[in-house]
Amino acid sequence: MAVERTLSIIKPDAVAKNVIGKIYSRFESNGLKIAAAKMKHLSRADAEGFYAVHRERPFFKDLVDFMISGPVMIQVLEGENAITKNRELMGATDPKKAEKGTIRADFAESIDANAVHGSDAPETAKVEIGYFFPGMEVYNR
Ligand code: UDP
Repeated sequence: MAVERTLSIIKPDAVAKNVIGKIYSRFESNGLKIAAAKMKHLSRADAEGFYAVHRERPFFKDLVDFMISGPVMIQVLEGENAITKNRELMGATDPKKAEKGTIRADFAESIDANAVHGSDAPETAKVEIGYFFPGMEVYNR
């Protein structure tokens, strides 16, 4: 197993619910370290750029509207197998289908307000980390 980095976003619904700390605690107790972090109220351009791969999907406008509805918490997670581990901790996209004990099962309401984002592969992780943390803002943990 290799040490990897992945991009995680705590979405506006979970920030509004005041569960940033509870979600961070799941990362930390599962071997993931916070290597960069910032709170940001995304602009429409920020959110559209981030989700550009989805721009032809029917849910794109609603997704962007949701992501700019309040501040988000953006972090880089570092650790063994960080990309897959974070996806496992998150649970399925639709919280109704997410396994018990996952972040989405415990904190999310619906497929659109689903609490967290996590990169799905090494290439996307690299692009997504660079999108929000350009240059030297990520630390080796
Ligand atoms: N999404 C949605 N409706 C759908 C599918 C996806 O609103 O039918 C949103 C949802 O917030 C999801 C995001 O679009 O987290 C990106 O979709 P993806 O399939 O990449 O899911 P993820 O990787 O976040 O589990």
